[in-house]
Amino acid sequence: MSIDQRPILIAGGGIGGFAAALALAKQGFTVKVLEQAPEIGEIGAGIQLGPNAFNAFDALGIGDRARGRAVYTDYMVMHDAIDEYCVGRIDTGEDFLKRFGNPYAVIHRADIHTSLVEGAQENGDIEIITDCRIVAVDQDENSVTVIDHKGNSYTGQALIGADGVKSVIREKYVGDPALVTGHVVYRAVVPREEFPEDLQWNAASIWVGPNCHLVHYPLRGGEEYNVVVTFHSREQEEWGVKDGSKEEVLSYFQEICPKARQLIELPKSWRRWATADREPIDVWSYGRITLLGDAAHPTTQYMAQGACMAMEDAVTLGEALRVCEKDIHKAFALYQKARVARTARIVLSSREMGKIYHAKGVQRMVRNDLWRNRPSERFYDAMEWLYSWNVNNCLSAANYYTGQATDAAAEHTGDAA
Ligand SMILES: Cc1cc2nc3c(=O)[nH]c(=O)nc-3n(C[C@H](O)[C@H](O)[C@H](O)COP(=O)(O)OP(=O)(O)OC[C@H]3O[C@@H](n4cnc5c(N)ncnc54)[C@H](O)[C@@H]3O)c2cc1C
Repeated sequence: MSIDQRPILIAGGGIGGFAAALALAKQGFTVKVLEQAPEIGEIGAGIQLGPNAFNAFDALGIGDRARGRAVYTDYMVMHDAIDEYCVGRIDTGEDFLKRFGNPYAVIHRADIHTSLVEGAQENGDIEIITDCRIVAVDQDENSVTVIDHKGNSYTGQALIGADGVKSVIREKYVGDPALVTGHVVYRAVVPREEFPEDLQWNAASIWVGPNCHLVHYPLRGGEEYNVVVTFHSREQEEWGVKDGSKEEVLSYFQEICPKARQLIELPKSWRRWATADREPIDVWSYGRITLLGDAAHPTTQYMAQGACMAMEDAVTLGEALRVCEKDIHKAFALYQKARVARTARIVLSSREMGKIYHAKGVQRMVRNDLWRNRPSERFYDAMEWLYSWNVNNCLSAANYYTGQATDAAAEHTGDAA
């Protein structure tokens, strides 16, 4: 049998796109990453990583590089933002490491992205093309072609749509609406000297309040702190990012305690995200095209797992291609089967987590009573499904399902609409 030497195209050079590039190159494919930005880069903000993310880094061959850039927290903690009550605390030190085999960490988004990009740049089978905004996509039985905004066309044996929350690939094949939450997120990074000493905890910390919450954790060896605040907007929001104003943030956090309130006084400049998700779907693969990362399962951020899931997707896709001996159709169907339920669980759990964080009145009392005196071990048990994912078990979920989703995907083979 002759080996197909044509590249696999990847739309989008974010965390998911580069993770996919590494996973595919590892299986012997040549890859073209097509990114709309003029330069490869990531915006400045922090991200939390569970052990499942480190298991993905290891599978992608960049585990040591990523570990060198992360900050390892001692614990995660949730406080009530009105009265400082400690709602729950989970140790993420030695016992956590022993249980899950990899740490809990916080990292600058740019650092995790750089680790993936460096891995790709060192790999002779990955070509990176910037200033390439895909505006059209087409496929026939044998190949996929995309056209960028300058009219350039790129053809490959398959296409991975890793083009984020507003994916043009998803728009073409799924075309489902975004569900705007009305929740607005402000993010900023603050130097340690300007961060309050009484909040300089080596922890992923969250303060939960009525219709709002605040998050902070250290970055880059504790030299910086990531600050994130979220609130329910009074405005009619549209999904997107823009510059924010301190005045707006201050107007939403009237009720909270002075200790948490310090956080919103800090940043000199803020970026403002109006968030959305989409209803989970069970078909991601359409002929020679499949979706990955936020394009496949856009979610609100309350589970702190969007990037972790994108990397899991990438590793699983690589494994599916390996066990299907590079048969694109079979592998895309297997990948989808292995990933849909797990990522939908993140989307749905994230919505529920948002309600728990932002509870008011009696619901707030229930929230604060939920985990009273609960030891870390019991939290570990509850998180087992999430954190115990690794390259060796990544395809096992596919065994539980019938061929339903696979058959639906097969109908689109040869679709050139
Ligand atoms: C406030 C907030 C906090 C978060 N915190 C966490 C966290 O703690 N932990 C975690 O794991 N996740 C977190 N996430 C989620 C995480 O950031 C995303 O899930 C992750 O970045 C998804 O990666 P991606 O590669 O799928 O998409 P993206 O990072 O959006 O990358 C998509 C890429 O495609 C490019 N692109 C788009 N359209 C085109 C086109 N037409 N042609 C070519 N290129 C295109 C874009 O420029 C971009 O580079 C958070 C998200 C938010 C908003």
